[in-house]
Amino acid sequence: MEISSIAVDESVSTVFPPEQLRDALVDIVDVMIIDAGVDSLEPYDAVVTMAYHDSYLEGVYWIHSIQAGVDRFPFDELREHEVILTNSSGIHGSAVGETVAGYMLSFARRLLPAVKSQTQREWSPPTWDDAYTLADERCCIVGLGTLGRGIVKQASALGLDVIGVRRSGESLNGVRTVYTPDDLHTAIRESKFVVLAVPLVDETHHLMSTEEFAAMRDDAILINVARGPVVDQDALVDALEAGIIGGAALDVFEAEPLPKDSPLWDFEEVLITPHCAGFTEDYYRNVADLVRENLVHIDAGEELINKIV
Ligand code: NAD
Repeated sequence: MEISSIAVDESVSTVFPPEQLRDALVDIVDVMIIDAGVDSLEPYDAVVTMAYHDSYLEGVYWIHSIQAGVDRFPFDELREHEVILTNSSGIHGSAVGETVAGYMLSFARRLLPAVKSQTQREWSPPTWDDAYTLADERCCIVGLGTLGRGIVKQASALGLDVIGVRRSGESLNGVRTVYTPDDLHTAIRESKFVVLAVPLVDETHHLMSTEEFAAMRDDAILINVARGPVVDQDALVDALEAGIIGGAALDVFEAEPLPKDSPLWDFEEVLITPHCAGFTEDYYRNVADLVRENLVHIDAGEELINKIV
């Protein structure tokens, strides 16, 4: 396989201007910005994209996803058409870790209600027993890959009691106890924060639903920075309405953008961010580094890094 030209699909503009990525790669390969929903991919050997288009199946040798989650891509069809898919796993740990730290601080230090009051020009301090500190609060991180480890780092620095859930159950530095997914209920039962950092696959679809919310503390905060369908969103709304859990910080949703009529917008104790937990001004540079590295691997006839298919 030889890659002499790369298309950057307009869809990356959700995260950074396509021109930035083009300019970061032009010294090593021909790069053009295209709209893969309309333009032909014929002149290009590879595409860097956020969206998936069926035209990728016939057009290119290699697709690089600027996201870590590749649940939108049809793995079987890609295999059939011998199209390689790589993802951007590995670049989001710091950004998402800091975002999750921000969520936890917003709840503990009552910044969430303060910001909501500010928009109403209301001076309303929390009641004496409303605020707390994060030190020694238990934080259960479900999924200990790139995101999970970035969250472990920040949560540990804030003095939280960090536990985790990992398929292997193997121990990990900074995590006091690691459970396997079979013990999910035990892991979440006493946790103030339950943070989801798993990929969306069959086993993680609706991983958190009615039974899991019932197993959680009634003052627990659910944090989802993984993918929307990892949480049964209707069950979450029910749990929040019934006070079965205390609140949620949500970056991802079953439907995105979150529809205007979603009840999630209205809860006092829900913090919503628009799928931007991993955003950083360095995002395009991090993607460019991955693409460059893989171009070197391709030249050397080596296996690609972050190869999914
Ligand atoms: P990663 O591949 O580095 O790590 C995922 C980890 O989850 C792996 O260690 C895997 O073994 C583990 N896992 C899989 N199924 C599990 C289960 N049932 N229980 C426990 N662990 C399980 O990926 P990552 O970069 O950490 O990203 C994880 C997911 O987060 C992505 O697939 C993506 O959907 C999402 N993500 C969201 C954002 C955002 O901006 N909100 C940014 C990056 C990634």
